[in-house]
Amino acid sequence: MSIKVAKFGGTSLADAEQFRKVRAIIEADRSRRYIVPSAPGKRHPQDHKITDLLYQCHDLAQQGHPFEDIFSLIAGRYLGIIRDLGLNLDLTPALEEIRNRIAAGASADYTASRGEYLNGLILAAYLGFEFVDPTSLIFFDTQGNLAIEKTQSTINNALTRKTNVVIPGFYGARPDGQVQTFSRGGSDITGALIARGVQADLYENWTDVSGFMMADPRIVTNPKPIEQLTYRELRELAYMGATVLHDEAIFPVREAKIPIQIKNTNRPDDPGTLIVGDNGGPKKPGSITGIAGRKGFTIITVEKNLMHSELGFGRRLLSVIENNGISFDHMPSGIDTISLVIADTQLNKKLDKVLAEIKRDCQPDSIEVVHDIALITTVGLGMAYTPGIAGRLFSALSEINVRMIDQGSSEINIIIGVENKDFEEAVRRIYYAFVD
Ligand code: ASP
Repeated sequence: MSIKVAKFGGTSLADAEQFRKVRAIIEADRSRRYIVPSAPGKRHPQDHKITDLLYQCHDLAQQGHPFEDIFSLIAGRYLGIIRDLGLNLDLTPALEEIRNRIAAGASADYTASRGEYLNGLILAAYLGFEFVDPTSLIFFDTQGNLAIEKTQSTINNALTRKTNVVIPGFYGARPDGQVQTFSRGGSDITGALIARGVQADLYENWTDVSGFMMADPRIVTNPKPIEQLTYRELRELAYMGATVLHDEAIFPVREAKIPIQIKNTNRPDDPGTLIVGDNGGPKKPGSITGIAGRKGFTIITVEKNLMHSELGFGRRLLSVIENNGISFDHMPSGIDTISLVIADTQLNKKLDKVLAEIKRDCQPDSIEVVHDIALITTVGLGMAYTPGIAGRLFSALSEINVRMIDQGSSEINIIIGVENKDFEEAVRRIYYAFVD
């Protein structure tokens, strides 16, 4: 029988009704043997995520303020789920211990991790599965980096012979045994690590959308779903803002050639999106896979006559950026120009200093700064080596001022920079140029 790891996100486990759907999904396929839950998410847009409330408790406790009211909200959510499911599980001692530890100065990571821990206890009891704490499976080193080898071999030894296990997402242990969490949304990473460790055939990621859409539904009405895409395509789309999956969740399963299936807990019959190895993707010539983008970039263009023959110019320019702790996103260049495309969050009030240092170290003829830029990436394996794609894309944008063009050397994407105000319109035009 094949082995599946199924990770369920916060909205999939937000209340008893969602727990029931999750159990039905798991019971419908016995190969769903390893289950990774998140903490309860929002039940409606005005609701709170348990993880956010836990961080608030931690902050209040650190400042010496009472956190009881918020903690009662958290306890109430869990106790309500247990009651509504009719479960015979006494969570009070666990809640009491957590409350005491927060009051005694527990770390933010420990406090936040309890969201997944408690949800894991409930889910395990509800499914009749074994509960395995991830502090015995997932390890970080003293610097806080994931100890990947130790984690993989431990998961492999501890879990392969087990079946029907619940492992809470989002955290593991440091060498001293203290809890450490991944960054926000990190239960996706836990699921990927478990899938890799047990050499699963499929990593299912259950959420509240039916996979990736070809464009953001807030911009394009009813965009088509992406039924299949490759890890490389996903990486391009995710980097530019198409979020369904945590960025770092891709690497463990990609290396192990395990496909990821994104599925919707509320519409389990929808096909969702299957993410496959880099050779297995759809390659219909001339087709695109998806469009994604983000606002909030600045382009710094440095011009100097005969730049191309000046030894060390690029290094000096990039040293300025590096010395200011800034990373850049793109670096399109011409014969006598180099542009740096930098996210505004990176630049963060350092622009004047950076410009002064570029003048000092590179002695350019001119520097031009363009603010309020949005980047849009059009991605698709079907674009590579297909003549006419760029022509189609740019004729769709004929009335829009394109401020930058960059094509990845893999030819699976074309990135353009437009003014923030033109962002949505540009995305729509590209979409309708390729999708009927
Ligand atoms: N509960 C954590 C968060 O809200 C981790 C997760 O949901 O994946 O970030």
